[in-house]
Amino acid sequence: MTKFAPMLVLSAGLCVGAVPALSAEFFAIGTGGPTGVYFQVGNAVCQMVHKEAAEGRSSGAKHGYRCSAPSTAGSTYNITNIGAGELQFGVAQSDWQYHAVNGTSKFEGNKIENLRAVFSVHPEPFQILAGKGSGISSWDDLAGKRVNIGNEGSGQRGTFEVLLDANDVDKGYFSAATEFTSSEQSSALCNGDIDAYGYTVGIPNSGVAQAADGCGATIINLNNDAVQKLVAGNPFYAFATIPKGTYSTIAEDVTTFGVMATFVTSADVSDDMVYQVVRSVFENFDAFRSLHPAFANLTPEEMLTRGISAPFHPGAVKYYKEQGWM
Ligand code: GLU
Repeated sequence: MTKFAPMLVLSAGLCVGAVPALSAEFFAIGTGGPTGVYFQVGNAVCQMVHKEAAEGRSSGAKHGYRCSAPSTAGSTYNITNIGAGELQFGVAQSDWQYHAVNGTSKFEGNKIENLRAVFSVHPEPFQILAGKGSGISSWDDLAGKRVNIGNEGSGQRGTFEVLLDANDVDKGYFSAATEFTSSEQSSALCNGDIDAYGYTVGIPNSGVAQAADGCGATIINLNNDAVQKLVAGNPFYAFATIPKGTYSTIAEDVTTFGVMATFVTSADVSDDMVYQVVRSVFENFDAFRSLHPAFANLTPEEMLTRGISAPFHPGAVKYYKEQGWM
């Protein structure tokens, strides 16, 4: 991952004494694959940060922060790299936020002590896309098939492993378990290289549309006993519906389970930086929400409660208290 110099000073006003020096501090937001929704989240946040930096605030103060939101491997990669100080912010599934904070599941023995919550974003149903003609319409049909379980570092890879475990099987349940990234998996499905793939992603998503609208893939129901146990036994899972008509092949509502996408940071990131990021998003909330259909129904109230298990960063708390939201 690109490592940003912590501070880049643009010196202004070298010869004009009256102009104050402006310093720009850069930070990075870890996202996911370029065709996913996390990439849209990260870039929407940066857009609002840059808007505030350029326009200033009604009070007259401008902040000096700039950011970029590169594509990454996904949730668990982002959390690990935030913990290590390689990324300042990131998007991560609520199940992995929970496990990172509690040192459980994939994070057993590797608790990310400095992980902090900023807000949650959109719901992310776990979706199994089945290729047209694959004969797959339920979990049981996946036995002996070629299935993409996702790249290491992605949220769906971890959640798929949890689902396998809940069904008392492992990767050997499939004839092949491939590790394509989210931006590769739809082409692999449409080309017939795999029979199905799993993806935890917001709705709608262009990657899923490529497989569904593009080559007739369907999304299967996931509500067997194993899934019911997962939902009943874990605070970060809930049943989720993919409404009929979301994609051309979804003729009826699909039931599955899902998590929330969350925006996280580190306790080592300054209060001011987090405050300004949060402020930029909420002061421009309508603009933010208009950037992707998955953000259209977001409300501050839900964003401060759903899918949060890490302690809130104090910079975020400051803004939420000012607004009377906390
Ligand atoms: N949920 C996926 C992950 O955690 C990313 C989905 C997206 O890119 O929108 O890796």
